[in-house]
Amino acid sequence: MTQAALSHTAGETTTSLLEETIGTNFARIAARFPDRDALIEAAADGGADAVRRWTFAELAHDVDAAARGLLAAGVEQGDRVGIWSPNCAEWTIIQYATAAIGAILVNVNPAYRSHELQFVVKQNGMRMLVVAPSDRASEYVRMAREALAECPDLRELVFLPAPHTTGGATFEAGVPEAPGETTWEALVGRAGEVPASALEERAATLAPGDAINIQYTSGTTGFPKGATLTHRNILNNGYAVGELLGYTEEDRVVIPVPFYHCFGMVIGNLAAFSHGCATILPGRGFSPAAALQAVQDFGGTSLYGVPTMFIAELALPDFASYRLDTLRTGVMAGSLCPVEVMKRVIADMHMEDVAICYGMTETSPVSTMTREGDTLAQRTETVGRTMPNLESKIVDPTGATVERGAIGELCTRGYAVMAGYWDQPDKTAEAIDADGWMHTRDLARMDADGYLVIEGRIKDMVIRGGENVYPREIEEFLYQHPSIQDVQVIGVPDPKYGEELMACIILKPGAPALTAEDVAEYCRGRLAHYKIPRYVDIRDSFPMTVSGKIRKVEMRQEAIERLGLG
Ligand code: AMP
Repeated sequence: MTQAALSHTAGETTTSLLEETIGTNFARIAARFPDRDALIEAAADGGADAVRRWTFAELAHDVDAAARGLLAAGVEQGDRVGIWSPNCAEWTIIQYATAAIGAILVNVNPAYRSHELQFVVKQNGMRMLVVAPSDRASEYVRMAREALAECPDLRELVFLPAPHTTGGATFEAGVPEAPGETTWEALVGRAGEVPASALEERAATLAPGDAINIQYTSGTTGFPKGATLTHRNILNNGYAVGELLGYTEEDRVVIPVPFYHCFGMVIGNLAAFSHGCATILPGRGFSPAAALQAVQDFGGTSLYGVPTMFIAELALPDFASYRLDTLRTGVMAGSLCPVEVMKRVIADMHMEDVAICYGMTETSPVSTMTREGDTLAQRTETVGRTMPNLESKIVDPTGATVERGAIGELCTRGYAVMAGYWDQPDKTAEAIDADGWMHTRDLARMDADGYLVIEGRIKDMVIRGGENVYPREIEEFLYQHPSIQDVQVIGVPDPKYGEELMACIILKPGAPALTAEDVAEYCRGRLAHYKIPRYVDIRDSFPMTVSGKIRKVEMRQEAIERLGLG
């Protein structure tokens, strides 16, 4: 067999990697575009008077002040500094301030509660935690205080200010009451205690290969593991995404995806700032209306989201009233995009160049991506091809590379592969093999042109009566049903076939109810009999992780209990 027939590709090597730290890169860009918009934060409640804006010069000033404040507080190179907050401007500032002093930023999922917070604080020996104001959904301040009491390494809490609002939402910023508690303003106010030269001295000791960020994998099952990423990992990955999107300083990137995940802080902040683009934050959490409003109000040229976010935006009753014609591009990632949704994003949201990115936290995150000029089919059926300076291959369970077109496990190798899981060498060795390949646990196949098609996750694959069934194929098919807005297919245990299929369906507003028989009727003659779902579950929503990943394992568990299949 010739090499060309195997599922192994390398991306372009025409662009060399950036061999600089995030701090150096940001300072260079800020000096080049001082007066251009860098960051625009829409008001938490949409009030126009509460919008906050930074040019690159202003943002660089605030990043410097925060970095010096951290130095004054005694934060050393390699210390872990956590940020536990929904999206806000300070998130961006602390990201760049920690990078400037070589502290390792720990992204803490804003949906975490006490138990999970304390788990991650202890797991990496976090020393300082920047804490969001409490809001209706989360008592961040109270839970952070509990962690301060329980976790010996944690020495300081930094309370973020409440966002300006003109009404509606209520926030309660932490008020320092005890040693170890301070405010963001007080931390930044300590900048004057250290000279600017201290920052330069620290910067001179940092190297691109240093760890700079820990992200706990959103894994839909199991204990979170701390993927540890370096400047080289995430700066280059963000930069490469921006290059492939054709970013220039004219671009304005609307980021409704969370910063605590790579999608926000790498594909968002690092891709944008390394090209001099402005970033636009529509709000703290995702709201479809706020995302479109931000595009309209601030002239967004690029919009990000997981498919369910685009589905929600397109479903807004007043969708047609938003001016979206400044958009030209964007990124869709995180899970597979139904063809019909992609078509509407291109046609109705003007995102002609929208790209699909595929990857995982452990690969910084993007390892494959579609390219400008790719056909609609490539952008709807595949996740693009291997990113520049990376390699992809598909292997069978023995580890052998499979032929083109065959399904197997997708593996990634190159600069973007994480340094490892924090303090878990055994888990790292399970994920990254001796040759440096990261094993994704995703099932994929590679076509003749090197484009990859994701067939599902290894654990999502359903085996019914000995036939391998990839839920994605059935989901794509059911999306074409006129009454179906969203659908997820899962496997549930069955005494006869081992597993049976269940289609979990969200109906379009006003659509008539669907029974299992209706769905079967729709499938008959068009899908192989073993792919026809036996069960149908009509629901209002799917359980999701904050980054928009559907918790299929939880749905399966629920279904088992409900149907008494245990
Ligand atoms: P996370 O580490 O939270 O970013 O999750 C990574 C996982 O998300 C991958 O292993 C895939 O299963 C899934 N994923 C990411 N991007 C895509 C995509 N474009 N299409 C399908 N699945 C994706």
